[in-house]
Amino acid sequence: MLKACLVAWLLLFAGDFLSTFLYHVPEHVFGKLHLTTHHAFKKNFRHYAILTVNLQVLLDGILGACPYLFMAALLYQVSIVGAIAGLLLGQFHVWWRHVNALGWQTPGWVTFACQMLFITTPEQHWLHHKNITVGFGDIFTVFDVPAQGWLRTLRLSRVFLRSFKYEKAFAFKL
Ligand SMILES: [Zn+2]
Ligand SMILES: [Zn+2]
Repeated sequence: MLKACLVAWLLLFAGDFLSTFLYHVPEHVFGKLHLTTHHAFKKNFRHYAILTVNLQVLLDGILGACPYLFMAALLYQVSIVGAIAGLLLGQFHVWWRHVNALGWQTPGWVTFACQMLFITTPEQHWLHHKNITVGFGDIFTVFDVPAQGWLRTLRLSRVFLRSFKYEKAFAFKL
């Protein structure tokens, strides 16, 4: 039982870490898919939390979920129950963190418990929907501050890359 719980937690923690740093933040800097599908205004719960038949929404959801599936593939040998529980909890959290779109307000004691466990509440996640530079860490709030640093670093590198490209093009013309 303890092993299954640890595997489920590790799957979610490592999955969130990989998803945040390898997909979510880089996608905000270099991509368009996540921005257009997940940060479009006036979209409903179904759009954000359930993989709709819209190909772009589907692709964004699948790419974000890949790290969790990767962790499940690694961890199922340790505990298959833990790996399945981790994936189910991860999916449940996707639905739960978007219930704000349905007008939900998290009870105070749940918010307190989540703060103690560093778990992202729907209100915390909604901050990210309103402002793309804050509220990172889809499941764990501990990734928020380092992800903001990662976002700034990648944005700087994008500026550097663009100026480098521009210089190269300019030198070529000369
Ligand atoms: Zn969201
Ligand atoms: Zn985002």
